[in-house]
Amino acid sequence: MPICVECGAPVTNLYTEYSKGNIHLTHCEKCKKFADKYIEHDFVIIFIDMLLHKPQVYRHLLFNRLEYRDYGVGPNVLKLGILLILFDVYIKWLRLEIYYENIPFIEQPLFLQYLYILFLCVLEFIVFQFGVRMAVSLYIRDKYAIFKYNYITMALIISSFGKIILILKVIWTYNDREYSWLINIVNIVVLTSNLEAITVFLDIGYFKSFAIIIFGLGLKILAQMFFIQVTDSSLLMTLLSI
Ligand SMILES: [Zn+2]
Repeated sequence: MPICVECGAPVTNLYTEYSKGNIHLTHCEKCKKFADKYIEHDFVIIFIDMLLHKPQVYRHLLFNRLEYRDYGVGPNVLKLGILLILFDVYIKWLRLEIYYENIPFIEQPLFLQYLYILFLCVLEFIVFQFGVRMAVSLYIRDKYAIFKYNYITMALIISSFGKIILILKVIWTYNDREYSWLINIVNIVVLTSNLEAITVFLDIGYFKSFAIIIFGLGLKILAQMFFIQVTDSSLLMTLLSI
């Protein structure tokens, strides 16, 4: 059932269509506002509100926009997830270029280097997702008879859209210092967006969702440390520090 993006109350429908293109938005019985104003907004407005961390836009995306699924993630979310992993690969690759301009970081063919970084990014992605899901399962234990963990994954993927800002690196030329700042800003935007999405989806306070995200990040760092031990690579430290 869809919900009101303003107060979270369930509503029977979001709009009534009188004729093609002529719709009337439903008013929420609880808060008396439009149940979902984003029905009539285009993607640019939605994107700006995501950047502004508005809880309403995450309620719209997670509860009203996504097609209901018992398991797995929707094809569009999956595409975004793959794109975000490739962005991570790109960020790490650039980092290596900046720090090791004249030194090949691994004496291997280029495609093996790429696979190496790709493997690391996929590992980070999976461990983070697993960590957050584990923290959520500990938190909601006995609270719900059925809980759709696939929506946790979708919430994290959608709210990591901020990494796309790094496409600016392709369009404009930054110096190393500016680029480091850009990465730091993007990391903060992604972290706070993840926080907002989990807060909205679980309908909990920011402190609790912060603890859940930190648990996921902690597990990811542990996995990275394990990787360092296994590969014994000081160059890997550079990769992991971003
Ligand atoms: Zn409402």
